[in-house]
Amino acid sequence: MVSERMLGLGTARSVIRELFEYGKQRAAEVGAENVFDFSIGNPSVPPPPQVDEEAVRLLQTENSTLLHGYTSAQGDAGVRQAIADNLNRRFGCRYTGDELYLTVGAAAALCCCFHGLACPGDEFVVSAPYFPEYKVFIEGSGAAMRLIQPDPDTLQLDPAALAAAVSPRTKGVVVNSPNNPSGVIYTLDTLKAAAAVLEEKSREYGHPIYLISDEPYREIVFEGYSVPWLPGLYRDTIVCYSFSKSLSLPGERIGYVLVPTQAADSGQVYAAVAGAGRSLGYVNAPSLFQRVAARCCGLTSDTSIYERNAGLLVSSLRELGYTCVQPQGAFYLFLKTLEADDLAFSERAKEFNLLLVPGSGFGAPGWVRLAFCVQTEMIQRAIPKFKELAQSYREGGAD
Ligand code: PLP
Repeated sequence: MVSERMLGLGTARSVIRELFEYGKQRAAEVGAENVFDFSIGNPSVPPPPQVDEEAVRLLQTENSTLLHGYTSAQGDAGVRQAIADNLNRRFGCRYTGDELYLTVGAAAALCCCFHGLACPGDEFVVSAPYFPEYKVFIEGSGAAMRLIQPDPDTLQLDPAALAAAVSPRTKGVVVNSPNNPSGVIYTLDTLKAAAAVLEEKSREYGHPIYLISDEPYREIVFEGYSVPWLPGLYRDTIVCYSFSKSLSLPGERIGYVLVPTQAADSGQVYAAVAGAGRSLGYVNAPSLFQRVAARCCGLTSDTSIYERNAGLLVSSLRELGYTCVQPQGAFYLFLKTLEADDLAFSERAKEFNLLLVPGSGFGAPGWVRLAFCVQTEMIQRAIPKFKELAQSYREGGAD
């Protein structure tokens, strides 16, 4: 006998991973150059050179017993202070390392938050389209996920929908901007309106409603856009961050939770986040990359290729008659499907070796996601395939 829930999670692969695996299999059949894999959000640019240099320097010069040893459960104190100092310089705050808890990427940061905060009957509100693992993480903590719909044209979070969904059971609201899967950045007005809703509801229900800001894409922002610093807009914000995308280090598993002292019951929340890390067995974030992150947290990979890819995809796809949302950051494009059933559309796209993730898994049927963290040249070669795909609908209609 094993846990039904874990068995289900272990056997039902995520749609994204499934497509990614299919892509590898298909590449073996028809050649990698003939498969146009837009499935997975693996950064396609290398980390800044300082990352490898710093790792090598640490490996060559530091005491290896210490370097590879356990750190404090919440992360090395010097590393946490270095990250806090970087945040202070950028956002004009006065955090200390004691407000940071280092984690195995944003995934662990989110899990620690949900597990640390959730009491029986609690709910977390999430706006579509959303990163599908939220549901797994939230339900894993014993809480329920409450999904709200965005503004249908802009895919911005809809403050009115938020107000309607928040109830006395709401422990928190998750926001992710720049957004995976839409590439949308929530505007200052949207976020201010959301903050006003949460302030009012927290007062009405007599308990804090935490805003959990999931920000792995904070630094991947295209020209003309900016990402507001949420703790500056809403007191009870907890930040979940990852170096996976900004420094192109997804395999190294390094990120953090920031619980600012300004947040309600911050001492308890921080301790509960640490307790969750303990109960989940995370112990401490990878030691070598804690040190690398401390020295490289002010850097970003060269993300200009993502902006170039976004421009190329948007102009080419619109020219072919597709409708899409202009990406403002991250490396995802959300495309309207040419038939109502996005799963069927994704299957049809596979016939042209285009791997596009159905929107249903993101809570957004009728869309597909393209991860454009790929070589620009692959996009150029994929455009004729998108043309054929569109043509197949004009000729045959949807099956
Ligand atoms: N949150 C979002 C929105 C993501 O897109 C991802 C990864 O793709 C994560 C969290 C998890 O990131 P990490 O690799 O740091 O665990």
